[in-house]
Amino acid sequence: MKQFKIAVIAGDGIGPEVINEGIKVLKNVAELDSGFQLDFTYFPYGCEFYAENGRMMDDDGIDKLKAFDAIYLGAVGFPGVPDHISLWELLLKIRKSFDQYVNIRPVTLLKGAHLPLVDVKREDIDMLFIRENSEGEYSGAGDWLFKGQENEVVLQNGVFSRKGTERIIRYAFETAKKEGRSLTSISKANALNYSMVFWDQVFEEVSREYPEVETASYLVDAAAMLMIKDPKRFEVVVTSNLFGDILTDLGAALAGGIGLAAGANINPQRDSPSMFEPIHGSAPDIAGKGIANPLASIWSASQMLDFFGYEAHGKIVLDAIEQLLLEARVLTPDMNGTASTSEVGDRVTDII
Ligand code: ATP
Ligand code: MG
Repeated sequence: MKQFKIAVIAGDGIGPEVINEGIKVLKNVAELDSGFQLDFTYFPYGCEFYAENGRMMDDDGIDKLKAFDAIYLGAVGFPGVPDHISLWELLLKIRKSFDQYVNIRPVTLLKGAHLPLVDVKREDIDMLFIRENSEGEYSGAGDWLFKGQENEVVLQNGVFSRKGTERIIRYAFETAKKEGRSLTSISKANALNYSMVFWDQVFEEVSREYPEVETASYLVDAAAMLMIKDPKRFEVVVTSNLFGDILTDLGAALAGGIGLAAGANINPQRDSPSMFEPIHGSAPDIAGKGIANPLASIWSASQMLDFFGYEAHGKIVLDAIEQLLLEARVLTPDMNGTASTSEVGDRVTDII
């Protein structure tokens, strides 16, 4: 029997609340098939761990996580711990250490999900964002000169390596080719006169290897506008770390809200674990109330099943989310419902 080891970092705020429901669903799906088994190991990393130990994870945390097939993450960050610490010492550390250089975020309006736009057809919102996840604007490189003085200067460097840029663009072309869809590159070469000129050049170079893939290229500001005005232009989309971060929050608003937006951090070589998470944060404003929407976490669990090669099971989960949305009976308050987090999880498992 095939066995998958999953490290669970439920994290802070609503993280544990929504992850519990995802695990409930995963266990339920695994019972449908005697061919595979899912093992969960819990790691108490996050801001509470930080409060007790002065660090976000064990010193050998990365070594401990390395042996797993996947990491299932809730959310990290809580008032009292500076955001850049919780982000850099846990989330970004994992992404970088395990070379999870592909961030996949579906922006697809599921049947039954709220369409926030007029003059746009439901089926027009069906994009797959492939965001560079290892360098670029989030390289962490920079400097703080003359701190506190009048001539203070802060530098924040974008790092775009040939290797890093080429591999994400090639991954996007492979995906578009496999899915028979067009590929759009989003950049900003008019203003970012080194990094984005280079990005566009690499996109152009790699595109020559894929004559069968239709391509388009937009400036990020125009793309933000067109995602609202004419979303059907976008099918598979490849973009940099920062632009992908921002545009996928816009995408979340287009596709049913932040409570429904899932993301996968993939290491395509599979020599270390990939990580699956909702794209939302720890939402301190609603933590502990039992009203967080678990659907984003459940969708990312479905992405995990796809990644394990159990696409049929991933689809069962996604179909169950879709049916729940269509029923419109058991929904959390962010979707104008009155159900609790666990009632939504229970309903998904009932449908499965
Ligand atoms: P981060 O910095 O980690 O991205 P953030 O402060 O930007 O976090 P979130 O924690 O994602 O933001 O929350 C933004 C808003 O969305 C909050 O008002 C929160 O209540 C709401 N929200 C986020 N996730 C959910 C969810 N799963 N269900 C319901 N509401 C949510
Ligand atoms: Mg945010």
